[in-house]
Amino acid sequence: MSKKQTIIIGSGFSALAASSYLAKSGHQVTVLEKNAQIGGRARQLKRDGFTFDIGPTWYWMPDVFERFFADFGKLPSDYYSLEKLSPAYSVYFGQNDRITIGDTLDKICEAFEAEEPGSSVVLRKFIDKAKKNYDIAIKDLVYRPGLSPIELVTPQTAVRVGQFFSTIQKDVRRAFKNERLALILEFPVLFLGAKASKTPGFYSFMNYADFGIGTFHPKKGMYEVVKGMASLAEELGVTIQTGMNVEEILLENGKAIGVMANGQKHLADVILSGADYHHSETLLPERFRQYSESYWEKKTFAPSSLLFYIGFDKKLKNVDHHTLFFDVDFEKHAATIYDDAKWPEEPLFYASFPSITDDNAAPQGQEAGIFLIPIAPGIEDTPEIRAVFLDKILTRFESLTQQNVKNSIIFAESFCVNDFVKDYNSYKGNAYGMANTLLQTAFLRPKLQSKKVKSLFFTGQLSVPGPGVPPSLISGKLVADLINKA
Ligand SMILES: Cc1cc2nc3c(=O)[nH]c(=O)nc-3n(C[C@H](O)[C@H](O)[C@H](O)COP(=O)(O)OP(=O)(O)OC[C@H]3O[C@@H](n4cnc5c(N)ncnc54)[C@H](O)[C@@H]3O)c2cc1C
Repeated sequence: MSKKQTIIIGSGFSALAASSYLAKSGHQVTVLEKNAQIGGRARQLKRDGFTFDIGPTWYWMPDVFERFFADFGKLPSDYYSLEKLSPAYSVYFGQNDRITIGDTLDKICEAFEAEEPGSSVVLRKFIDKAKKNYDIAIKDLVYRPGLSPIELVTPQTAVRVGQFFSTIQKDVRRAFKNERLALILEFPVLFLGAKASKTPGFYSFMNYADFGIGTFHPKKGMYEVVKGMASLAEELGVTIQTGMNVEEILLENGKAIGVMANGQKHLADVILSGADYHHSETLLPERFRQYSESYWEKKTFAPSSLLFYIGFDKKLKNVDHHTLFFDVDFEKHAATIYDDAKWPEEPLFYASFPSITDDNAAPQGQEAGIFLIPIAPGIEDTPEIRAVFLDKILTRFESLTQQNVKNSIIFAESFCVNDFVKDYNSYKGNAYGMANTLLQTAFLRPKLQSKKVKSLFFTGQLSVPGPGVPPSLISGKLVADLINKA
């Protein structure tokens, strides 16, 4: 019997993961990526001896990556090497005022005690509960395809129903009265794309990922993971083609039969899109789309971001590999993302200096800096606005970390809403897809299989289970299983 021909649109983490699973189960897989470089939001920027990850920088939940590679009899270390970051990160609250999160729960407990005596006892209990949720969620629930609510009903979740209707914010603030500690514990759910006040309490498993497991750095950067996954796919027989823009999904009698890419027809038995879900459906005639424009309009999207990739001509001080700047009002900034979409007056921001840990990131004696401001998707993006915000955050950065950096900039590249749209066909320029709120969890998210077109499937951060690199790997596995069952 001849192999099933399968075309995958896009080469993000979910698409690469799915390509390996499908190739392993006997499909002849071709990945068509519009950009010159694979990896989607996790592409890499190289300039003047500096190397930056354009998207993800936090390697969390190493067990998910291990499980992925183990499905092919491999280890992550067959493709890249990991270093556990110590400290994991630090958080600035004011000038020379920061809390450092160590690489073990014991060290983190010490930091909590120093901030508020007695808080470490509460923290250990909180993380213990978070671990139980992690074991239920990440080892089991997220590996269910989101077909029906029944998937979420297990003996373990039945006793935790309250946690689905409580929020992370309520649970954290019930346990911690100290504002700074509460903000640190609310930080991990930002990866899920919504505020802690809109994220179900059950998602505290992210706190276990943070404090219980830790933060890792793949040597030479996250892009090594992309390269590793692409190598695995190619070993399994997948063909990856870049510079291939898919313009249309071709149909015959309600069945997907191929795609039009760069004006050429490519026929296949199965089409899987790993591009943003909204964009993927625009490749179909309107009556074959499952979700209307008003459906997408009503959804809570994860933020977009204004990013800067800066080469500094010296080493910086008073910063860690990952450094968060929470010195301004969190609620005010969050309101500009979720309630009234506009640019924040005083933004919180995140900065990463991979060259602190990794010699490959910058020439000797210099520093690579990535700065990220989360913003509302779809807001106005101009070179002038970007320049204003670069100046704003660097002014604060200089004062908070007590050093001059503006006159040490060799170059500053930026990436924002317009680039997310142009480079990834991202809906409103979102960075992290659709948020994991209660009403956008599991079976309430856009489905992995089209209900209107036979042989058409979807994967990625807008589908099941949600945003982030580990969920994207899982999404690729889930959709491959569905395709094989169809
Ligand atoms: C700035 C930023 C920081 C992040 N930080 C972290 C982090 O620290 N840790 C973490 O775990 N996650 C992080 N994330 C989230 C994580 O990067 C994403 O969830 C994940 O990479 C999404 O993968 P995906 O498979 O959904 O596809 P994407 O990466 O979105 O890839 C989709 C691909 O489809 C291609 N495509 C689109 N349209 C077409 C077309 N018509 N034809 C052909 N190809 C097409 C695109 O070019 C793209 O390559 C971050 C994301 C961003 C943007």
